[in-house]
Formats: sequence, C-alpha cells, structure tokens
Amino acid sequence: SLLRDGTADVFAPDVEIGKKKSASAWRLLALAKEEALCLVVATLALLVSSLATVAVPKLAGSLIDVCIQYGQEGGRDTAKRHLNNMLYQILGILAIGGVATGIRSWLFNSAAERVMWQLRNRLFQRLVEQEIGFFDRVRTGELMNRLSEDTRLMKSAGTISISIALRSIVVSIFGVVLMFMTSPLLSALTLACLPVLLASFRVYSTLNRKYISEQLTSSAEASTVAEETFGSIRTVRSFAKEKASCERYGVAQHQVLRWGLKSAHASGFFFGFNSLVAMGSIVTVLWFGARQVVDAYLSAGDLSTFIIYALYVGANVGALAGVISNLIQAVGASERVFELLDRIPQLPEPGMMEPMGAPEGGDINLQDVTFAYPSRPDVTVLRGINLHVPPGRKVALVGPSGGGKSTIVNLIQRFYDPRSGGVFLDGCPLPAIQHEFLHKQVSIVSQEPVLFAESILYNIAFGVSNPHSVPLAQVEEAAKLANAHDFIQAFPQAYHTQVGERGVRLSGGQKQRVAIARAILTKPRVLLLDEATSALDAESESLVQEALDRVAVGRTVIVIAHRLSTVQSAAEVAVVDGGVIAERGTHDELLAQGGVYAQLVRRQLQPGVAAMPGD
Ligand code: ADP
Repeated sequence: SLLRDGTADVFAPDVEIGKKKSASAWRLLALAKEEALCLVVATLALLVSSLATVAVPKLAGSLIDVCIQYGQEGGRDTAKRHLNNMLYQILGILAIGGVATGIRSWLFNSAAERVMWQLRNRLFQRLVEQEIGFFDRVRTGELMNRLSEDTRLMKSAGTISISIALRSIVVSIFGVVLMFMTSPLLSALTLACLPVLLASFRVYSTLNRKYISEQLTSSAEASTVAEETFGSIRTVRSFAKEKASCERYGVAQHQVLRWGLKSAHASGFFFGFNSLVAMGSIVTVLWFGARQVVDAYLSAGDLSTFIIYALYVGANVGALAGVISNLIQAVGASERVFELLDRIPQLPEPGMMEPMGAPEGGDINLQDVTFAYPSRPDVTVLRGINLHVPPGRKVALVGPSGGGKSTIVNLIQRFYDPRSGGVFLDGCPLPAIQHEFLHKQVSIVSQEPVLFAESILYNIAFGVSNPHSVPLAQVEEAAKLANAHDFIQAFPQAYHTQVGERGVRLSGGQKQRVAIARAILTKPRVLLLDEATSALDAESESLVQEALDRVAVGRTVIVIAHRLSTVQSAAEVAVVDGGVIAERGTHDELLAQGGVYAQLVRRQLQPGVAAMPGD
C-alpha cells in the first residue's frame, strides 16, 4: 500500500479502476505518439533484419545440397563456383541485416529516451503540484521509486522488450511458415509440443507476475527506510541506532530477496522444463527427419534448413516468453505512473486575484475556521477560530503543545483549506488569490529553517521568481537586515559558500538568519514566525531576535512565541488551547485576568526562563 497508515490508495479518484489495465497499455503506446515516425522506421528496420535472419538457413540448406550433389558427381569446380555465389549472397544478406539491426536499435533507444525524458518531467511536475495533505500521507521513498524505478521499467520495456518481442514474433512467424514449406509433416511433429509449452508459460507468468509485484512493493519499503535513515542520520547517530537501522533495512531487503528467490525458482523450473521439452522434440524430429532423408522423401539440405528453422523458432518463442514477463512488469509500472500522472490535486486550484491592501502590512483574517488534517479527518484540530490581525500588527500565539498554533500558520499559507469558515488576506479568501502572489505576500521563518544544498546566495534568493538573476547588492541588503551579512562575509567564499544538504554546514543561529534574509527578500506583507525552542547561544539568539524585530517593522507579524520577551513585544496575545482561542488581550491584560495565560506565565514564563511550555 502506498500510504503511511496502510489504508487503500486514494491516488486517482478520477480513474475508473476496471478500465485501468487496458487503458494503461494503450497509453503507454500513446506516450510515444510524437515518436511515431521514428518508431515506424525502426519497425521497418526490424522487419528487414528479421527477414535477413530467416533467409540465411534457407541458403545454408542449399549450400549443403550443392556440396552433396556436385561433390558426388565430381564437378568440384562447378560446386566451388556455386559455393562462392552463395557465399556472396549470404554475406550481402548478413550485411543488410547488420545495418538494419543497428538502425533499429538506435531508433528504438533514442525514441524511448525522449519519451522517458518527457514522462519523468511531467510526473515530477505533477507530484510537486500535489497538495500538502498528499505528502502527509504518501511515503517519499514510494514517490522516488515511481519516478526512477517504474519509469526505468517502462523504458526498458519500450526499448529492449518491445523490439525483442517484435523481432521474435516476426522471426517465429516466418520460421513456422518456412518450416511448413520445407516439410509439413516434420512441422506438425515439432509443433505438437506447443500446447505443453503454452500451458507451462501460463502458470509461470501468473506466478512470476505476483512475485515481481510483491518484490517491487518490498523494494519501495526498503527505499523508504534508506531515505529516512540518511535524512535523519544525526538522530540515528546520536541514539547509536545504526544497527537498528541496518536491521530495519535488512528486514525490508529480506523481503526483496524472498520474492526475488521465488521468482528465480519459478524461472528455473519454467526454463528448465521448456528446454527439456524443446530438446526432446528436436531429437524426435532429427530421428524422424533422418529416416525421411534415408527414404529420399527429403534432401539432407532441407533437413538442415528445417532444423535450423526449428531452433530459430524455439529460441524466439523462448525469448518472447522472457520478454512477455518484462512487458507485464512494464504495464504494471505504467499503471502506477499513470495513477500519479492522473491525480488531480485535492486542494482547489488557486484563483487569479491579487488583492491590494495597505501599502505596508497585510490584513489577515480567520473567520470561524474549523479544520481537520486530511490524513486524520476524524480529529478536529481547530474548532471555530476567529482571529483578525490588522495590517502592521503583531500577534503572538501561545499555548500548550498540540493546541493548534502551527495549524493556524499552515492555514495562513494555504497548505490546507479549512473544513468550514475562511482565511482572508486583505479581505480576499485565500483560494481566490493567485498562487505566487500569495506566497510573496506571506513569508515564513520556521523553527528549523530548511535550506537547500546550494550556495548561501541561492538560498537567500530562493523566494524570488528567478533566484539566479537577483543582484548581489539586493541579497546583501537583505542579509544585512537579517544580521547575516557579517558571518557570511567571514566565510572564504562569502555568498558563494555551499551550505550542505539541508544547511548542515551552518549553525542553528546562522541558518535562522539566512532564512530571515530569504523571507524578507520577497518583501512580504505578512511574516509568519515560528520561534525556535531549541536554545540558541545567547549571542546568536540576540542577533536573531534583533533581526526579527528589525524586519517586523511595518509588517503584519504572527509569531508562535516561546519567549517572554516576544510575547511582551506583541500588540496582542492569543492563547490557543484545544483548537480554540481560549484567551485574547495584551500580555498585561491577560496576566491580570488570571486565566490560562497567567497560569502559563506563572509556571514557566518567568523573565529569566527562555522557553514557553510545550513544543
Ligand atoms: P501546536 O503548534 O500548537 O503545537 P499543531 O498545530 O502542530 O499544535 O497540532 C495540532 C494538532 O494537529 C495536534 O494534535 C497534531 O497531532 C495534529 N497535527 C499536526 N500536524 C498534522 C498533520 N500533518 N497531520 C495530521 N495531524 C497533524
């Protein structure tokens, strides 16, 4: 199953389940529409090379007959002349066949490369577009597998398998026809074993299909474990859990092995059995054919030709059997890819509005907002939140952990839509606002800012439309505001310093300040802050605080506060508890009220103590 919680897939609400199979086989072909010309030429080349292949045994048979005929009558020179002629013919045919094979291989492969290039890009684009709720439920390893493994399977089917299948079919058909032309009796005898082979193939392919699909599922499982482990290697290390990670990975890989071995067993049985039947039939035909030659019903050359055709047909039917299981795998893979490609994001598409509020600071309004996360629909996280933050005002959200503060911040970024009620920016409902516009107006600096494995320059400029074209002076200005310029200048490569994956080469306070610079470069009207609970050292804490105070000026600020100083500097405090706003007012008012907030402060929020309760 694709989902973390093991529930059935809800990937493709717009795809009819029953229609999926045939539809995806056709769509696999339809993908290659633009490559039609390329594929037609490739198929012609394939026909030519197959014809060349089947022409050779015929000539080889004649060669033997010439040897026997002229050799006996003493006409050695005539024989040699004939032989030379035939050699030229065979060489000519082989040369044509070789060139055609080259063309086929080149065209099929390059068409498949182009189709996959487009497919991967489209798939990636589709995935990035999905709503945040989708990523809450789907495992990243699974998506990575679709993007790399499944598309790889599709490609190999599109190139190797399809061309082998076509070639095998063509050669087999010609081979059978020529066999019948050479000797109908022997042909009938040879083909008698066909029903047995077909039956065994049926059993094999049913079994193998199941094994392979189980193996792919386990392999996605293993990828997820690997990804989780590498993604949180510090946590793993700090708890000395390397062994446990290896064990988890080992368990998943063991399943991969188990299904792989079953598949290996099945293919051993099938191919072994097949080869026994085929050999048995060839021996029978040889014995019977030789008797026919002795009785002069058949020439020795014809028998040779016949045997070579029979071997050809056998080899090609065998290859076809192998290829069919690949094709089945590819159809399975393409089903999974198309499922994602067809998935319509569940969050309604944003509108085109660009509300213009006050020149500085935006107006944020949550009206009667009720919300449950799509991944846990039966738990109502927010119940009837009303929160109006006028332009330029600073509001601090406080309250116990799990109360719903981050959820409010998520909704203001429209990661999710509320179940009922609405969120408004400058009086305009968020779903109506143009996507890029909204995210330029609303910026976030989170507790654990995520940086990309790029330069500091890129990370700061990330939020603007074209990060690579932002003038350095502008980036420096933002960095100065964010108290980041000095430490960046101190690096030997300054703004071109690489920060490492997720910014591991920077300290917590440095990452925070880069994130602040990134947030303010887009000149947002609304700043969302999620104050770090992890204690920064006193110096970087004051640098971060100073930067935040500086950039907050003239902007609407909604801050999830953990420090008393932050709460005191806010115009208003909202206590979020159990999905409702339990209390509201200034710090002093709330203290005087002697309610939840006063209790929180009395217990934990002493002036010298850094962190608020929770989180
Ligand atoms: P706070 O920020 O006040 O600590 P949150 O808004 O993070 O609280 O969480 C509120 C509730 O929503 C918690 O019960 C939490 O378990 C749940 N929750 C948070 N994020 C998700 C998510 N992505 N999917 C499902 N439930 C979530």
